[in-house]
Amino acid sequence: LQLTKVNLHKVLGDIVTLRKRATEGKSVTFQQQFDPSIPPMLADEGLLTQLFLNLIKNAVEAVDERGTIRVASRVISDYSMTQKGERRSRMVAIDICDDGPGIPKEQLEQLFTPFFTTKAKGTGLGLAICQKIVTEHRGMLKVESDPGTGTTFTVMLPLIQ
Ligand code: ADP
Ligand code: MG
Repeated sequence: LQLTKVNLHKVLGDIVTLRKRATEGKSVTFQQQFDPSIPPMLADEGLLTQLFLNLIKNAVEAVDERGTIRVASRVISDYSMTQKGERRSRMVAIDICDDGPGIPKEQLEQLFTPFFTTKAKGTGLGLAICQKIVTEHRGMLKVESDPGTGTTFTVMLPLIQ
């Protein structure tokens, strides 16, 4: 882990800019909603780039001919119990939402398993790598999906300055 002060919104903005020009022939609208109060945070910039590239790539692959992908950041409080009582720490949550077909319930548990793919030419490694990167940063990766409505992946990272 190569920790430096990372400007999260610059990383996300650069990936969106790149992806706008590589939408696999689809008409994809990108929305960015960033919380301006989020300060530069200690993280591995190369790994974070890889993480968000993978998630946004999956979102582009998921949407139909016309799709919308929203990338948003917010600060959340994480409560954990220690022997000395309750401890509150701040985390940054980054949501990547798409309005694609969603993920069937029975597949949700397998998503992060290496080599699980539903794509003809998929590797099934993207999300396994994402999971590893998030864990290395002591964060969490969540998925919520509503078949017919879309999918949201949420990356939660400790806000360490
Ligand atoms: P790959 O993209 O090579 O298939 P991933 O590990 O990135 O491998 O993803 C695994 C599987 O998770 C995909 O094949 C797909 O079925 C599902 N998936 C991931 N992201 C999405 C998404 N945004 N919408 C719907 N399904 C998704
Ligand atoms: Mg993938």
